[in-house]
Amino acid sequence: MRLTFLGAAGTVTGSKYLLEHGGRRVLVDCGLFQGLKQLRLRNWDAFPLPARQVDAVVLTHAHIDHSGYLPALAKQGFHGPVFATDATRDLCELLLPDSGHLQEEDAEYANRHGFSKHHPALPLYTEADGRRALRLFRTHEWGEPFEPIAGVRMRFSRAGHILGASSVHVAWDGGSLLFSGDLGREQDLLMLPPEPPPAADHIVLESTYGDRTHEEEDPETELGEVIRRTSARGGIVVVPAFAVGRAQALMYLIARLKQAQRIPDLPVFLNSPMAADATEIFHRHHGEHRLDAAECRRMCEAARIVNSVEESQSLNALRSPAVIISASGMATGGRVVHHLKAMAPDRRNTILLAGYQAAGTRGASIAGGAREVKIHGEHVPVRAEVVMLGAMSAHADRGELLRWVGKLPRPPRQLFITHGEPVAADSLRQAIEEAHGWPCMVPEHRQAVDL
Ligand SMILES: [Zn+2]
Repeated sequence: MRLTFLGAAGTVTGSKYLLEHGGRRVLVDCGLFQGLKQLRLRNWDAFPLPARQVDAVVLTHAHIDHSGYLPALAKQGFHGPVFATDATRDLCELLLPDSGHLQEEDAEYANRHGFSKHHPALPLYTEADGRRALRLFRTHEWGEPFEPIAGVRMRFSRAGHILGASSVHVAWDGGSLLFSGDLGREQDLLMLPPEPPPAADHIVLESTYGDRTHEEEDPETELGEVIRRTSARGGIVVVPAFAVGRAQALMYLIARLKQAQRIPDLPVFLNSPMAADATEIFHRHHGEHRLDAAECRRMCEAARIVNSVEESQSLNALRSPAVIISASGMATGGRVVHHLKAMAPDRRNTILLAGYQAAGTRGASIAGGAREVKIHGEHVPVRAEVVMLGAMSAHADRGELLRWVGKLPRPPRQLFITHGEPVAADSLRQAIEEAHGWPCMVPEHRQAVDL
């Protein structure tokens, strides 16, 4: 069995792991690179082998940095099955066409305003490409075995990160391998905790927060204070949020805060039709999260859904206290970018960052205290208050990653630390080596190992 790291090696995005066995090939995750320009440019590189030579794809979860390259792979000739859980498929049905749509919109905006270096700017793939890729899906529940290529048996288990998110256990004659996928929290607001890992010879472990511990602070109290403080000075809270996962957690908390009258009854806008649909998907997968039907309904009703572009633009003219939740989560694109352009220069407003901000994204610049950010070719001053809600992360922190891996029923022969910036990955590598003495390595982009 040969494993090649085609993404998420030394970085948090672009997850893609190629497995080759008996002349067949399966790709575990098929994500887009995001963040730094040199990473984003990788999305445009030709796939390292002819796409039609990939026999199958297996997705750990629906986030675009794990699924968003699929339409591009299909465009290049991949036509095999895509294995995923039911909820992952449901979410991809929203996310993949939307990802194509955003790319078309960005290309069109760049052409209209002439700030692209490419003429004309082109999308990597379109909404129609995103929709076409959905036909390839085959779903399996957690624990149900499937064989994506001959001689390689796989099974999903719950990873607790977002709806449908899974770890993937891989077994073949002579060995086994476990992909952690993105791991969720032990105590999440919405999601159930990750299942303990099954035994495997080799482990591919994520390390998004490999060097950090989330604050113990209660996110409900913290969010309530931010909203109260901002509305007291007449400002607006703008929240860039992943449409799937954090947007729902925020709405759930806002619903509770309003019900307990801990915040004023101010208007809350969910400016992402997709986030609204994702909220509906919570209703469809009741066994996978902590909310009962009534809580789900309250969460759905916590915000006014903004559908049209006109309505979205009209939010930028708001002059009274409100909360605007909008994608994308790292402020790299989507409607939230327009809100930031309008809201960031005003000191009364607050920019609330509720999820991981990958290096090179606008979100990371704002989190790092940048006094201005570049939006659509313009320098926009950041005078608004900036708050990070670490306690709202959908990712396990360092301690949780260590505890998860510590539950392995037997010592693995080798661990590969991926899906983290270099410092986070290396810090987790050291911690695991110290705690258990297991051999760990942080693979490099396109490195191949024989298992
Ligand atoms: Zn994720």
